Amino acid sequence: MRRQVSCAGSETTIIHIDMDAFFAAVEQWAHPELRGKPVIVCGDPDGRGVVSTASYEARAFGVRSAMPVKEARRLCPQGVFLSSHLSDYAAISERLLEVYRRYTPVVEPFSIDEAFLDVTGCERLHGDAVAIARSIKEEVRRHLGLTCSVGVAPNKFLAKMASDMHKPDGLTVIQAEDVPRVIWPLPVGKLYGVGEKTAGALASMGITTAKALAEVPVEMLTARFGVMGRVLHDVANGIDSSPVDPGVWERPKSVGRETTLAEDSADEEALVRHLLSLSEQVARRLRKHDLVARTVTLKLRYSDFTTLTRSHTLDDFTCYDEDLYRAAVELFRSNWTRSRKVRLIGVTASTLAPSHDYTCQLALFEGPLSHERRRSLASALDRVRDRFGEGAVTRASLIDIAPRRRPGDGYGRDKSRKGG
Ligand SMILES: [Mg+2]
Repeated sequence: MRRQVSCAGSETTIIHIDMDAFFAAVEQWAHPELRGKPVIVCGDPDGRGVVSTASYEARAFGVRSAMPVKEARRLCPQGVFLSSHLSDYAAISERLLEVYRRYTPVVEPFSIDEAFLDVTGCERLHGDAVAIARSIKEEVRRHLGLTCSVGVAPNKFLAKMASDMHKPDGLTVIQAEDVPRVIWPLPVGKLYGVGEKTAGALASMGITTAKALAEVPVEMLTARFGVMGRVLHDVANGIDSSPVDPGVWERPKSVGRETTLAEDSADEEALVRHLLSLSEQVARRLRKHDLVARTVTLKLRYSDFTTLTRSHTLDDFTCYDEDLYRAAVELFRSNWTRSRKVRLIGVTASTLAPSHDYTCQLALFEGPLSHERRRSLASALDRVRDRFGEGAVTRASLIDIAPRRRPGDGYGRDKSRKGG
């Protein structure tokens, strides 16, 4: 997708924003008694997991992300170890994006706590990029009590490199002409996108610094690394032409998910729970592709391999878990032969349309707000799942649509073990 905001002839200006010790900072903001203390957020403080985020106070003791919790406890026995509250972080992530979008519509969420903004052409409205960066930092601090590190540069790669240079609470500008001074002295492994394996391969070629990499003829790099060789050559020279992309545009004909059960089953409740999980996955894919769907198809394959597919057309387009789930459960209840064991179960959404067109129509009927609210909750959850995997968060309320729920059944429980 091309940049939406630009002035003819103007240089591209990109801002990269990276929240500082995001999860720990959110906890410290929510619990003032934790401020100034070494806070360590992890999946399971008493388990064998790893550290998600350490506050800067904890980092002073050598605690780092991805370190085993056990090791962190050894380094920092006085640390406050907390389990993560992913849906809270996702909700704040969503609020951060709202702040950014007040400055430019061209915002690409990059992870739960990072985003790229294309602010080219926004100067007349908001001042130059540095003024915008300052203003965003101030707004984020004032309204959300959080600090972030910001990079300003002519492209995404340099902006990402810049935001990492003065953490926490940094604001770093890299201009194209700064590349020899700022980027070239760096070891190749410090270049964003160059992993350990590539750095090792480069080292075996005698290339250890960005400067050395920049000086290698691109043909030599492509001969050794294929298309990645071109990328290596470009980043070492501070070149990156990838646009800030607020949404990936790919349009499939249908979006489906199916699962073969571990054991053939005629347990209605268990089958309905599979439908919930499948509907969530399908809805998420729809949102990922900025699509809405109007037809829901259920697929059941019985133990004897006979297969049944039934479809239902919804009154309206949707990209939400609960709408797909309700339709899938309806189809299941009215078509499943109760005594027959099921081997495979699937949910597919079809009759697709771009969600943008739909949102415009919808605004005429119900006002954009309820759609926006649902959409923002859904996308916040999607980001958590992108980062932590499917099943990191499930909306427990959806399970209530299913009948005969056993109390205390843990399926779909928020695994972050959030307490209220
Ligand atoms: Mg961060």
